[in-house]
Amino acid sequence: MQLNIKDRFNTELPADSILENSRRQVKEACFSYVTPKQTKKPELLHVSPEMLHSLGLTEEDAKSKDFLNIFTGNTVLPNTKPYAMCYGGHQFGNWAGQLGDGRAINLAEIEHENKHWAIQLKGAGETPYSRTADGLAVLRSSVREYLCSEAMYHLGVPTTRALSLALSGDNVLRDVLYNGNSAYEKGAIVCRVAPSFLRFGSFQIFPAREDKETLKTLVDYTIKHHFTYLGMPSKSTYLQFFEAVSARTLDMIIHWQRVGFVHGVMNTDNLSILGQTIDYGPYGWLEGYDHDWTPNTTDSQFKRYRFGAQLDIGHWNLYQLANALYPLIEDAEGLQNSLKAYSEKAKTQYIEMMRTKLGLLTEDSSDAKLIFSLEDLLQLTETDMTIFFRSLSAFSAENSLDGLETVKDAFYMPNELSGTIRKQWNAWFESYTERLKKETLSFQDRKEKMNTVNPKYVLRNYMAQLAIDDADKGDYKLIDDLFQLLKKPYDEQPENEKWFAKRPDWARHKVGCSMLSCSS
Ligand code: AMP
Ligand code: MG
Repeated sequence: MQLNIKDRFNTELPADSILENSRRQVKEACFSYVTPKQTKKPELLHVSPEMLHSLGLTEEDAKSKDFLNIFTGNTVLPNTKPYAMCYGGHQFGNWAGQLGDGRAINLAEIEHENKHWAIQLKGAGETPYSRTADGLAVLRSSVREYLCSEAMYHLGVPTTRALSLALSGDNVLRDVLYNGNSAYEKGAIVCRVAPSFLRFGSFQIFPAREDKETLKTLVDYTIKHHFTYLGMPSKSTYLQFFEAVSARTLDMIIHWQRVGFVHGVMNTDNLSILGQTIDYGPYGWLEGYDHDWTPNTTDSQFKRYRFGAQLDIGHWNLYQLANALYPLIEDAEGLQNSLKAYSEKAKTQYIEMMRTKLGLLTEDSSDAKLIFSLEDLLQLTETDMTIFFRSLSAFSAENSLDGLETVKDAFYMPNELSGTIRKQWNAWFESYTERLKKETLSFQDRKEKMNTVNPKYVLRNYMAQLAIDDADKGDYKLIDDLFQLLKKPYDEQPENEKWFAKRPDWARHKVGCSMLSCSS
């Protein structure tokens, strides 16, 4: 097995001088060296062929003993020095101080076909940042991260990737509902991959400690390797760096709103500096379209990270990043302007995105009204987001179809579609019909275009749970079935029509389907 190792993070940035793997505050350093934990009986459950090839590996490699041992942390790759990254963050709006990779261990960085990848094991044991926890991960959260990150990639949403999913062979104690009922679960390890795992919190930690020097070192490093086009670091490049991060963050969240993804824990330590979806914890997919929905039971009281708040939370998090970068930029007005630009662009880009979901290629002054009134309607009676938008492409003014009839499969309570609700829907379809008349695209072309932005298949919460239930019993077929299904989320897959269906009733209030905690 040949990997082209090109370590930069741990060769160019300051390391923690203490080598002992003990929990502590780590100062003036970007990372600490650690060795992954030996596992009892590692077993590979799935490998992503796309990611394998991206790293320059083959399917043969993936079958080797070396592969199993390396990607479960049992063997350290020759000439590498694994490490855990130091970062801080705001959790649910409050500064939490040092967090860091408590259960993620970076193995190495790889260069292949002019692309640079950092590879990281999640659940491979304790680090100086593990605080009160064990550094491990369970099978259920690992299946969820593995399947969802690859699915997001194929949906065209910026995201970290996953190379492999393995059982560690060790048992892990977890209290899923935080109600005092702890139980042992199977331990698992995901190998995840990204150009960088730097987060907003990676930058915040240094100004919080009044360590401007390390902050500058890290920002210069990040610009040099990940925002190279900005050129030599200076006060103005630092501001441009912030603007670039803002633009990428916005782009990512707009994609989330397009596909109905709710991250669930948008703390600043869970926002990538590259604008990639990172840290798949208690995330969820909208079934009934609902701005107030969050899958995260830990957030059920205030719903800070609900679907409809994600763009605003992006702004809140960028504001924290702006504060962190201020000592280098010292231009409050510049930062404020760029935060203002985020808010303005968020509004326009959101409308542009929603226009594509409705198949509108031109702009019309009435579009925002049409979109907002649709959002209100979608929430009057429980309406499946994915089925609604996918079905909508079959509607046309000319085919004399009834609008509601076209999208009828999306309604969870069809009998609620009476009286004023029905009237309102019919009125909306009339406005939509009028609006479509201003478009020049043929029905067929519009349908095709809409089907490239409105996915047919997403990883519904209950689907992941079914794969987890089977995997718990030692049956991994559904993991592979869903992995294959979600590689082509925009395609019609007649053999997989059963996954183009509303959430079954049993999943409505089931733990793991509509209720997820941070316990993982
Ligand atoms: P998260 O909510 O997953 O983003 O995690 C917040 C912080 O807790 C991060 O610093 C994680 O590394 C740490 N953490 C979460 N789970 C564990 C665990 N099982 N062991 C050690 N640290 C953890
Ligand atoms: Mg995290």
